[in-house]
Parts: sequence; C-alpha cells; structure tokens
Amino acid sequence: MPASSAFSDNLRENPSFSSSSDASEKPKPRLSADNLAFLNKIITAFPDLVFKPNKKFTFRPKKTIYYEIKNDHFPLLLLHETAHALLNHYSFDTSLERLTIERDAWEKTRSLCKKFAQPFDEDFAEANLNTYRDWLHQKTLCKVCGLTCLEVSSTTLFCPFCQKTYHR
Ligand SMILES: [Zn+2]
Ligand SMILES: [Zn+2]
Repeated sequence: MPASSAFSDNLRENPSFSSSSDASEKPKPRLSADNLAFLNKIITAFPDLVFKPNKKFTFRPKKTIYYEIKNDHFPLLLLHETAHALLNHYSFDTSLERLTIERDAWEKTRSLCKKFAQPFDEDFAEANLNTYRDWLHQKTLCKVCGLTCLEVSSTTLFCPFCQKTYHR
C-alpha cells in the first residue's frame, strides 16, 4: 500500500487530528464537493495567495482572500476576489477609484473565468457594480441642496451649487 493513502486513512480515523479544541465545537458548515474542488484548483494555481473561510467574500491586501462557505456564486466571487489580489488592489483614495477598481476586477474576473472554464455571469457582475454606483451616488450628494458634489479628495466634497466644501 502506498504511504500517501495510509496517511489519508489516518486522517479519516482521527477527526480531531488538526486541533484538540474542535471536539467541543458544533459541526461547521462545509463547502460543497464542487466548490471545494474549485477552491483547490485556485489554491494550486495561485500558491502565493492565502485562502480562508469567513462570513463574506473579501480580499484583504496583500495576499488574503476570504471566502463564504455557502454562496450560490462561489466560483465567480472566488475569482473576483482573486482578481483584486492579482491586480494589486491594495488601496484606493476616492470612491470613484473604488468604482474603477471594481470594474477592473470584474474585467479580470471575466478572463479568469475563461482560464478556469467557469461561466461568467454578466448580470451578476453588472448588479454588483450597480451597488457601488448607488453607493457612490449616495455618498456624494450635498446634504443641503441634494445635488451631486465633486469629490475633491477622499475626505472632501465640493458642492458646485452651494459653493461649499464638505468634509466627511
Ligand atoms: Zn470587488
Ligand atoms: Zn449643495
């Protein structure tokens, strides 16, 4: 019998193998077999990146990608956060830049989908970008007249109607 299969058998027989504190915890939700296989494919393709489970899909610079265990768009969002990492999206100064990096990340997601034989969901990407557009719009409305302000810097808005500068 090859040594490697003996090792995995040992693992199966000892569910608390990784940590002794696991025994007292409730069973955790697991990735579906398909999503797990896809995750492993991405981990292998990008050995420099770190993948960890969390409540939400998030990219934390410079190398960590958090993934949600239960999400209907698991492969797409995993590739999207990977796109942020590959594009070195470490910081952004204005909300307009945030929208730009999201658009760039979705473009990169599209090519990653091709590379990893995943369908790219145009509507989902567009809906996701729209939430940023709405957020951007809300964020820049003048609190006095309701007009859209100019974003002077990450902390300063200027209302062309009131001719006033706002700090946020
Ligand atoms: Zn994003
Ligand atoms: Zn105003």
